[in-house]
Amino acid sequence: MYNKVTPEIIGLLASIVGPANIIYNDHEKMESYSHDEIFEFGYSSMPEVVIKPESADEISLIMKLANEKMIPVTPRGAGSGLSGGAVPLFGGFLLSLERMNKILEIDKGNLMVVVEPGVITNDINLALQSEGLFYAGYPLSLQNCFIGGNVAENAGGARAVKYGVTGRYVCGLEVVLPTGEIINLGGKRLKDVTGYDLLNLLVGSEGTLGIFTKVILRALPLPASSVLLLIPFKDIETPVKTAPLVMMETGIIPAAIELMDRKSIEMSSRLLKEKVPCQDEAESYLLLEIDGSSEQVEQDYNAVADHFLKYGALDVFVANTPSTRERFWSIRRGVSDALKVFYPGNIAEDLVVPTTAIPALIDEVNRLSIEFNLESNSFGHLGDGNIHVHLLPNKEMPQDEWEKATSSLLKKLYQTSQQLGGTLSGEHGIGHKRKNYMPFFMGETEIALMKRIKAAFDPNNILNPGKIFD
Ligand SMILES: Cc1cc2nc3c(=O)[nH]c(=O)nc-3n(C[C@H](O)[C@H](O)[C@H](O)COP(=O)(O)OP(=O)(O)OC[C@H]3O[C@@H](n4cnc5c(N)ncnc54)[C@H](O)[C@@H]3O)c2cc1C
Repeated sequence: MYNKVTPEIIGLLASIVGPANIIYNDHEKMESYSHDEIFEFGYSSMPEVVIKPESADEISLIMKLANEKMIPVTPRGAGSGLSGGAVPLFGGFLLSLERMNKILEIDKGNLMVVVEPGVITNDINLALQSEGLFYAGYPLSLQNCFIGGNVAENAGGARAVKYGVTGRYVCGLEVVLPTGEIINLGGKRLKDVTGYDLLNLLVGSEGTLGIFTKVILRALPLPASSVLLLIPFKDIETPVKTAPLVMMETGIIPAAIELMDRKSIEMSSRLLKEKVPCQDEAESYLLLEIDGSSEQVEQDYNAVADHFLKYGALDVFVANTPSTRERFWSIRRGVSDALKVFYPGNIAEDLVVPTTAIPALIDEVNRLSIEFNLESNSFGHLGDGNIHVHLLPNKEMPQDEWEKATSSLLKKLYQTSQQLGGTLSGEHGIGHKRKNYMPFFMGETEIALMKRIKAAFDPNNILNPGKIFD
C-alpha cells in the first residue's frame, strides 16, 4: 500500500532540505534512528531515509511530497520513548526534528516561553532559571528528550503530583498537518473555549495527527527553595498506604513522591557502587520533594517527616544542598539506568491506577511474579498512581518459556489494572508496543471514534502509521 523511496524522491527531498540534511544508503548512520529506548527485543525497524528539516515550511513540503508519492512519515524527537512511537514501522521517511532546536522567546510579561520542538527539555529550564522562572511539566528523562516528543507523549514526570503533566503547560502549538497545511492552535493565553479543543487533542497524539514545529509553554516563578527527603520503610505497604494520609493530615502536597521497592534500590545501589542509607533493613523507600519559600519548606518538611516517622518510617534523611539533592535523585534515576545495564530485554510496563488502588496493584504484581516464577521490580510516581513494573529476564529460563510466562502474566496484570480503575499507560504512550492491549481498556466504539479522528487528519494514513492502533 505504501511506495518505496526512490533516488528520484531523494533528489526532491534534497531540494527541500539540502543534501547535507539527508541520510540515505548508509546503514550505520541510519541504525540509531531505527529504535527508541525500549529494552525489549523486536521493536526496531529501519527507515529508508532520514530527513532533518529546519522549518515548518520545509516539513510542509515534505508532507505534500509524502502524500503525492504515498510514503509513510515518522516524526522523531530524541528517541528516548518507551513505546516504539518514533520507530518507522513501514520504513519510509524518518523526520528528525533535531535541527529545530532554538528557544525563540522568553516572555516574562506573560510568563510564557516559545520553543522549537527539538530543544532538549532540560535546556528550557536552564534558560528560564536565570530569569527566575521554570517549566514544571518535564519528565525525568529531561536531559535526553526533546520538548516536541514530550508534547507528543503528554509526558509526565516525578512532579506531576503537584504540578501536573506536560499538557497543562502547553498553551499554543504550530502544527504541520499530515496533508501539509500549517496551522496554529492556542497562543499566549491561559483560557480558550473557541471551538473544539484541538490543542489538547494534539497533545499526546503520539506523532499520528500532526508534526509540532513550535510550542508555546507556560512558565512558573521558580520556587526559592526545595528539600528532598529519602525515607526507608520496613515494608512496602506502609509508604503506599500512608502517603495519602500524610498529605491529607498535613495539607501539604509534595512536588514529588517517588516509590522504590527493595529490588529497585538494590540494582541502583549496585550501579552507583554505593550503599543507600538503611539498605540492609529497608524493603522500600520514598523520595519526597518539597518546594516553596525557604521558611515554608522547612516547616513543611519537618511536618511531613514527623508524620512518616509516626506511621513507622525507619528514618528520614534530608537533602537540602544541591549536591545532596543530586545524590538522592541519582538513586531514583539509577533504577532506570540499572535496568538497562543489568537486565537488557526486561519488559517495562507503565500502569496507572487511582492512588488508593496502588497497594492492590503491587500485591498482585508480587503474587503474579511468584505464580510465574519471574523476578520483577516496581517503582515510580506514587503521588499520581503511575507505577513502572518491570519483568526481569532470568538467564536460566529458555526464551520460549519466558515469552509464554510474560505474555500470560501481562494479560492478568492488565486485567487487574482495569478492574482497579486503572489503565494501560500513564506516560509512555501506546506506540506500537502496547497497541494490541488497547481493547482491554477501551471499547470498540471509542477505538472506532479515534480511528475516524485519525482519518479526518490523515486521509492517506501516512503519518506514523501502525501506532496506537492498526
Ligand atoms: C530513562 C528514561 C526515563 C524516562 N522517564 C520518563 C518520565 O519520567 N516521564 C515520561 O513521561 N516519560 C519518560 N520517559 C520516556 C520518554 O523520555 C518520553 O516519552 C519523552 O517524552 C519522549 O521524547 P523524545 O523527544 O525522546 O521523543 P521520541 O521518542 O523521539 O518520540 C516519541 C513520540 O513523539 C513523536 N514526536 C516526536 N517529536 C514530535 C514532534 N515534533 N511532533 C509530533 N510528534 C513528535 C514521535 O513520533 C513518537 O511517537 C523516560 C525514558 C527513559 C529512557
